[in-house]
Parts: sequence; structure tokens; C-alpha cells
Amino acid sequence: MSDPNKPYDPDDENSPLTPEDQVYADQERKRRAAEADMEVQIIDAVRGKNPVQPVRLTKDNSFCFSCHKGVSCWNECCHNTDITLTPYDLLRLAKHFEARPKAIASMFAAPSIHDASGMPIMKLKMVDKDGERKPCVFLDETEGCTVYNDRPAACRYYPLGLASVKMKGHEQPEDFYFLVKEPHCKGHEESKEQTVGAFRAEQGVDEYDEKNRDWIHILMKLASWKFLGGPWGKEPDERTKKMFFMATTDIDQFRLFVFNSSFLDKYAIEPEMREELAMNDEALLKLGLDWLRHVLFAEETISLRPDVLQHAIAQARGGTGGT
Ligand code: SF4
Ligand code: SF4
Repeated sequence: MSDPNKPYDPDDENSPLTPEDQVYADQERKRRAAEADMEVQIIDAVRGKNPVQPVRLTKDNSFCFSCHKGVSCWNECCHNTDITLTPYDLLRLAKHFEARPKAIASMFAAPSIHDASGMPIMKLKMVDKDGERKPCVFLDETEGCTVYNDRPAACRYYPLGLASVKMKGHEQPEDFYFLVKEPHCKGHEESKEQTVGAFRAEQGVDEYDEKNRDWIHILMKLASWKFLGGPWGKEPDERTKKMFFMATTDIDQFRLFVFNSSFLDKYAIEPEMREELAMNDEALLKLGLDWLRHVLFAEETISLRPDVLQHAIAQARGGTGGT
């Protein structure tokens, strides 16, 4: 017999289910079965578009490339380019300018839609110059990138692309890298040879990947739901998109939501963590992404307070108070 106090687990046949959970679990199992039978590129992160000659690479593979002020194409790649800003990019830029992330987003980015998932994201602004090539808002034509130490993840990656591909018959998506050889980029003609791993370390990519992991996970899962039909059978609704946008773009609004709504009555968050959340944007972003994973996918990334959980179980059993 199943334990009614055990949390719901879509992988566990004996997991206790409320009627709502049962609907969710059936759809989730169908989604997973369908996903296991498809092969699809779920997300890729690369600066600009139309990579030429993509070659699949691992961290141990080597390639020749160097970018420095002496190359004839200096700054070429910082014009007319398409750069998605991750939530962590916004926090880093906010720290750089000693401003709040929402102000950074308003000044230097424009709202857009992530095609694969349908979710709202921010893209870095290019400066409109009356028909001329549009430079990135952070570009100094002589000195280069003016936010170099806090440049976005996509800029650190270039000329590498990251793809996450769900292969037929595999439960988890697999990450791999590819080299983007665009004709204007002369860095590929330089003789400096390095492994993908060494290049990533030099560019400080690992830290960005770590902080962006949950955000990418959410976009990937919503992308597969959009493709296969999720619990809604369609794209997330406007309320869900607003929630996602608040937690990933407007951290101050999310802080107000956490501290001024019933959030802390509902979720089990220790007093020390509450203090941390009041001051630390990165900790709050992590909470926001955990919360989104919980409300969107019923993942156990954040715990309900025991009394709230008991009440929910009792209500699901018809208001008998449960046992
Ligand atoms: S942020 Fe810096 S590196 Fe990235 S496109 Fe703009 S100027 Fe270039
Ligand atoms: S070498 Fe490539 S990455 Fe470096 S400035 Fe030129 S186009 Fe940009």
C-alpha cells in the first residue's frame, strides 16, 4: 500500500495521487513516452545565426582560434548580432553598472519570445544607426566590449555553440558543442590551438552554465511540451508567462512577491534563508527558478510547509482531514 505522506513522484507507480496529480501524472507519462521516441534539438546557444560547417565537439576536442585587437575583423561579431540575455547575465550586468536588473533590461535589452518554448525573454539591444551596421549597445569601436568582465554567456561562448539534443531512446538530453565558422571571423585563421574545455575555462563559461542551468531546464522542458503537448495541451497561458518573466527578469518584483504575498506561509523557508533572500539577488533567482520548476512541472525543487501539505492532502481526500 502506498504511503499518503510520501510526496508525489511521477517515476513511482505507487506514489499517492490527488485527482489533479493523477491527470498530471498521466500526461507526464505520455509526454515522457513520446519524448523517448523522438529525436529533437531542443535548444542551442550561439551568438548570431546560420552557423557554417557545424562540427560536433566534446570538451576534449581541440580547435585553432584566437581573438585579439590585432585581428582584421576586430569587433565585427559585435554588430547586428542576436544575443539572448539569461537571468544571470542581467544580474551580472546590474552589478557591473551598480543598477537594478529591471533598469538594465529596460536600458540595454528588448523583450522577445523564445521560439522553441514560447516564453518571454530579453535580447541585447543593437544601436540603430540609419541603415548602417548596428553595433551592440556595449561596444566601443576602438576598445571593444565595455562590459567585458560581465559580458553575456552567449558572448563568452562564441565561436562555440552549445546544443542540447534529446536522442531517440535516451531519457536525458545530451549536450555537445560545435564550432561556428562564419566568413567574417578571422580568428579561425590564428594558430593558437586549445581544447574546448580550456577555451571554456578561459572564457569563464562554467560559472555561467551553472547559474543558467535551471533556466535552460525550464525552457527545454516547455519547448518539448510545446512540441508534444504539455498538461495544458498548448503553450503556457499568459499568467504563467508573466510569472516566468517576473522571476527571471524583474528580481525586485519577485522579491516583493515573496515577502508581501502568502509565499512564505506556503513554502518551508528557514529564517536564515529568508534573510539571505532579502539581500542576495542570486539566492533569490535560484529560489525563483526552483519555484517555477515546482509550479510548472510539480518538481520537488521547493518544499511546502508541513501544515500546508497536510491541508492539501486532506482537501484532496474530500475535506475529511485525512489520516
Ligand atoms: S556584450 Fe560585449 S562582447 Fe557581447 S556583443 Fe556586446 S560588445 Fe560584443
Ligand atoms: S576574431 Fe571573430 S570573435 Fe574575434 S573580433 Fe573577429 S569576428 Fe569577433
